[in-house]
Amino acid sequence: MERVCRGLYIGRFQPYHMGHSQVLQVIAGSVDEVIIGIGSAQRSHQKSDPFTAGERVLMVSRAVEELGIKTYIIPIEDVHRNSLWVSHVKSLTPPFEVVYSNNPLVKELFHEAGIEVVETPLFNRERYSGKRIRRLMLSDDEGWKDLVPTSVLRVIDEIDGVGRLRRISGSDDSREVHSEVSEMRP
Ligand code: ATP
Ligand code: MG
Repeated sequence: MERVCRGLYIGRFQPYHMGHSQVLQVIAGSVDEVIIGIGSAQRSHQKSDPFTAGERVLMVSRAVEELGIKTYIIPIEDVHRNSLWVSHVKSLTPPFEVVYSNNPLVKELFHEAGIEVVETPLFNRERYSGKRIRRLMLSDDEGWKDLVPTSVLRVIDEIDGVGRLRRISGSDDSREVHSEVSEMRP
């Protein structure tokens, strides 16, 4: 039997949006199975990271149903030590042959570990970005609804995600000291 080729794609998915969908469609065309790592899994209830790992699992799992490919969705907490990060990721995921990323630090760390890295293109980045979506949510602009798949929209509605973001937005501590892993967050 031929070996299954698995690819890894990591994001924070705060929230999952159409840009992620387009990247995953490309990846799905090149591998047999996709592992989707939910980065900074421990973070939630913050202006830049409003959703829990479990809520993001729900968003991603519903959105990838239509991808037509086997997926594994794995929450990955930050380890706050870049030199250990690849081993940490490998300890949590099924074996994979290739990593898809456009994040320079992620690419560097996997490259140093001898793992093949394939650069992913940016799709309409001015429009499809987590930061922009959160900004629109906060400014009461319904335009964000066009930037996420309908399945994700439903999850955000179910958990009153926009309400939460508004309620906690005053409490995000921008003075918080971020570790290097936080800075490299994909
Ligand atoms: P944030 O603004 O919160 O960082 P994001 O849109 O960058 O959100 P992430 O979850 O950080 O989303 O992204 C995961 C990966 O997807 C990153 O490598 C990121 O560069 C990539 N990505 C994000 N938006 C797009 C897009 N529009 N097209 C292609 N790749 C994207
Ligand atoms: Mg990002």
